[in-house]
Amino acid sequence: MQSKYQICTNCIMDTSDPNITFDELGWCDYCRNYYKNILPNWHPNGKGERMLAPLIEKIKKDGKGRDHDCLIGLSGGVDSSYVTYLAREKFGLRPMLFHVDAGWNSQEAVNNIERLVDGLGLDLYTEVIDWLEMKDLQLAFFKAQVPHIDTPQDHAFFAGLYNFAAKNGFKYVLTGANYSTECVREPLEWHYHASDLRQIKDIHHRFGQRPLKSFPKADIFKFKIYYRFVKGVRVVKPLDYVPYIKDKAMQELADRFGWQTYPYKHYESRFTRFYEGYWLPKKFGYDKHRAHFSSLILTKQMTRAEALDLITHPAYEKETIAQDFEYIARKLDLTVSELQKIMDGQNKTYRDYKNNMALINVATQILRTLGIQKTIIR
Ligand SMILES: [Zn+2]
Repeated sequence: MQSKYQICTNCIMDTSDPNITFDELGWCDYCRNYYKNILPNWHPNGKGERMLAPLIEKIKKDGKGRDHDCLIGLSGGVDSSYVTYLAREKFGLRPMLFHVDAGWNSQEAVNNIERLVDGLGLDLYTEVIDWLEMKDLQLAFFKAQVPHIDTPQDHAFFAGLYNFAAKNGFKYVLTGANYSTECVREPLEWHYHASDLRQIKDIHHRFGQRPLKSFPKADIFKFKIYYRFVKGVRVVKPLDYVPYIKDKAMQELADRFGWQTYPYKHYESRFTRFYEGYWLPKKFGYDKHRAHFSSLILTKQMTRAEALDLITHPAYEKETIAQDFEYIARKLDLTVSELQKIMDGQNKTYRDYKNNMALINVATQILRTLGIQKTIIR
């Protein structure tokens, strides 16, 4: 643990990541990793497009005779929306869209999904999560007092998507993951792996009440090894091969489809807004915008001065917090004072519960050695 406050002189990551290190120039290890490992291997330009072209052709060829040649998980946020648009209009693919409704969708997200589906004439499959199970698992995470209370939702999104792909014989899943907005990943201390099923089961076992019968489950090994190598499901990240500037992408979607923008990243649900704008900063002192803005600084979409200014503004208006607080409490069958009691409770980390971190570390080390995993995950 660092005892003295320090902030990177190149981005805005700081000692709120307890494992951050700085070099003699005051640059953090995220910055060093970006210039050493990510930037030389990242081609969001003509070169990238030429690298991607043979894969697009292969996806088309492998999909001949099928109704769809790939699957895209669509949240309604900018990354997945833009991938959908690119896939259909720029690459000429025939994607099937897959959405998980975990009970927290904002009206904007619902509208955005509808507009894309109509505008591009695509097929959409929506998996609606059993709300009683969802609520039980989510409440368990609140009671566990961990930072990552969005894990139930994240897990449902990703497990739902990959289970659907494997079950229906999809060979290609296109995702909105990208270096442009995510080259600085949030440390695990802030945001633990949503794919660690062992942790989910342990927290649910301790604090949950209702068995998870239909809730989608897939642990990190099932998805990275079994689905990849046995079922042949390949993950493609097209946004790393084209110019992807977030503001421009949102504008393009707005002009073309009447897509609605969000003030900050990932506020496609009211729950996410509460979690990122209140739970994390207020209870734990973690601000996910710090990692996000740092990514934008490194990829030259924001200056460090702009980021330093923005980070001092609370993401939330006072009245909105009070409204969201009451809304979240009511949805989880808590009173406002019960939710407040949880907020005030003793903070825990992922290490306080069973987890697969040791195994994941080994796997990550192998992927880094092979050069497949380039962002820092710790
Ligand atoms: Zn830095």
